[in-house]
Amino acid sequence: MTDTSRTVGVLGAGIMGSAMARNLVRAGHTVRVWNRTRAKAEPLAADGARVVDTAAEAVRDADVVLTMLYDGGTVLEVMREAVSASRRGAAWVQSTTAGLESVGELAALAREHGLVFYDAPVLGTKQPAEAGQLTVLAAGPAEGRDAVAPVFDAIGARTVWTGEDGAAASATRLKLVANSWVIAATTATGESLALAKALGVDPQGFFDLISGGPLDMGYLHAKAGLILDDRLLPPSFAVATAEKDARLIVQAGERHGVRLDVAAASAERFARAAALGHADEDMAAAYFASFDDKATEGPDRA
Ligand code: NAP
Repeated sequence: MTDTSRTVGVLGAGIMGSAMARNLVRAGHTVRVWNRTRAKAEPLAADGARVVDTAAEAVRDADVVLTMLYDGGTVLEVMREAVSASRRGAAWVQSTTAGLESVGELAALAREHGLVFYDAPVLGTKQPAEAGQLTVLAAGPAEGRDAVAPVFDAIGARTVWTGEDGAAASATRLKLVANSWVIAATTATGESLALAKALGVDPQGFFDLISGGPLDMGYLHAKAGLILDDRLLPPSFAVATAEKDARLIVQAGERHGVRLDVAAASAERFARAAALGHADEDMAAAYFASFDDKATEGPDRA
């Protein structure tokens, strides 16, 4: 074992957690993975990870605990069960996108059990996660960074340090700001395409119109392509998860005295798309929320 090799307990083998666990193994770390639905973690065994039955088994004696679950509440629930099995002084890298209050609660749980807490959400989706090219936004004590740096290097191309106090959630604050942009762009993409369809405008005419100018963006083409080519499965970022994030953003704004109308409307669009049967599709499927009067017939595809 070299001094950069770590034993990492990964909790959560969803879209992101699986990819991150795989890259940790590839980087030479010893990886134990737990997932509520064990079958989703099983393929990681072929990569060299040990798939375990309980979260406690995954964190026992780990140098680093990595949580990549659905939301802050889920992390709190899972870690409350598992934390007493962890080693005092181990690092906890909390990468789930959680609300600001949740980050405080998770940091308090870490403190209670002698874990060194890193608020460490990630920017980037399925493909960058698979390529180990995420951007890690991280806040936590400078003193323990050597312990977590090899983990960040395995999952990401870049680490952006935002502060030394994980409990203050400076990394999650930056993540929520970035996601408000992502969600607004996703909503705008879906609405522009829905309007084009309703008005009989060829989407290509719209793309040609803005091509090469300041209104053009790669993200529009990426998300519009998923809708127009009906490639919404498997998702990079599911509608249901995007709704959760939109609501976290609205709550963070409310808590800090700003109204975020686009995020609030986006949350409703994600909820409507989910109700129409698109919850597990890529968040680009919020497009279908524009056609919700057709719910009884089932939504039209693009
Ligand atoms: P995902 O594929 O839906 O994975 C969610 C994970 O949470 C799964 O392991 C799931 O277990 C687990 N989970 C959900 N509810 C649970 C519960 N009550 N108890 C225990 N485990 C539970 O989602 P993802 O896309 O990987 O996202 C994971 C986190 O990363 C989210 O916070 C998301 O906002 C954030 N994120 C996602 C992206 C992206 O592009 N996908 C990018 C950056 C950040 P099961 O398999 O048993 O359901």
